[in-house]
Amino acid sequence: MIAENIQRIKNQIANTAIKVNRSPDDIKLVAVSKRFPVEKITEAHAAGQTLFGENYIQEMQIKRQQAPPSAIFHFIGHLQSNKAKIAAATCDMIETVDGLKLGKALNNHLQTLDKTMDVLIQVNIGNDAKKAGVKSSDTEELLIKLNDLPRIRVCGLMTMPPFEEDPELSRPYFQNLRLLAERLKEKDLFSAIEKPELSMGMSGDFHIAIEEGATIVRVGTAIFGERLLTE
Ligand SMILES: *Cc1c(COP(=O)(O)O)cnc(C)c1O
Repeated sequence: MIAENIQRIKNQIANTAIKVNRSPDDIKLVAVSKRFPVEKITEAHAAGQTLFGENYIQEMQIKRQQAPPSAIFHFIGHLQSNKAKIAAATCDMIETVDGLKLGKALNNHLQTLDKTMDVLIQVNIGNDAKKAGVKSSDTEELLIKLNDLPRIRVCGLMTMPPFEEDPELSRPYFQNLRLLAERLKEKDLFSAIEKPELSMGMSGDFHIAIEEGATIVRVGTAIFGERLLTE
């Protein structure tokens, strides 16, 4: 079942990309395995899926130990600075850096571990009180400061727009994230990055996000099924 779902999503990603003259290879699929047991990760991995997303730090830490070694983990949940140490040691990318305090904590722990890490800035593109992330208007200032931290490499932006029943209503938010990334790139604030990553789109709206430039889509339910507990 998981293998079929992954194949279906990959086909949908490719078809959408081609429709808007993009290369399917430019879009990475993060399989969001949060609240599913590690066996599901192993099953998806056997079906060729290497990239996984988790949003609880201790859960990721346990699954990282039990998952196939070549599985790649993106952290996509809210990260508190006091958990930066585990995150620095455990995952391959943090998509949710939303403040300088967290950036500095990560930088310090990465220094101790003698490694560097790719991160994204989470932008609260809809100015939604219920959503995490830095405000659009504060993103430039944060990026400038994060760019001074040698152990993290800011590769792009991530967002989670306000929930909309109709995915078409998410389109303006995805457009705004792309425009924001383009403006920051024009100001040379992504100097080491040829094309900034845009992590946007989930099970219900990833096709719209791809039409608007997503380079990373985060898909959970459509691969693994309904999660048992709600957030
Ligand atoms: C859970 C989650 C997803 C996946 O959502 P689905 O609707 O299950 O595809 C994507 N991004 C983030 C940040 C999440 O927490």
